[in-house]
Parts: sequence; C-alpha cells; structure tokens
Amino acid sequence: MAKYKVKIDKEKCIGCGSCVAVCAGNFELKGDKAFVKKTESDLECNKEAADICPVQAITVKKT
Ligand code: SF4
Repeated sequence: MAKYKVKIDKEKCIGCGSCVAVCAGNFELKGDKAFVKKTESDLECNKEAADICPVQAITVKKT
C-alpha cells in the first residue's frame, strides 16, 4: 500500500475543518488549527484533504 508523508503549514491553516471532513482518519482539529495524526500515512484521503484545503496548507508526498 502506498505511503504518504503529510505536513500542515500551521501558519497558513485557518481551521476551516475541511481536511477533517474528508479525512478524519488522519486529521484532527485542536482549537483553530488542524493537526496530522500520522505524518507517515497510508490513507488515500490525505490527497483529497490537500486538494480541498482552501489555503493550500497541506502537502502530501509519496514516500
Ligand atoms: S483544510 Fe486546510 S485550512 Fe482547513 S483546517 Fe485543514 S489544514 Fe487548516
């Protein structure tokens, strides 16, 4: 299974919650910022989260 390295730029994140909505398996909101549960993740939805983020705060790279 493909693995991905997932990062959130906390400076950019506006806490909209979209990443959690599409990929609750690997994103969570704490206060007004999103956090990645696992920086090395095998969930495809990380890419959807990166696409849906309105401020492009999420980067997903194949490892
Ligand atoms: S989608 Fe982007 S801006 Fe919204 S909570 Fe997630 S990382 Fe933050």
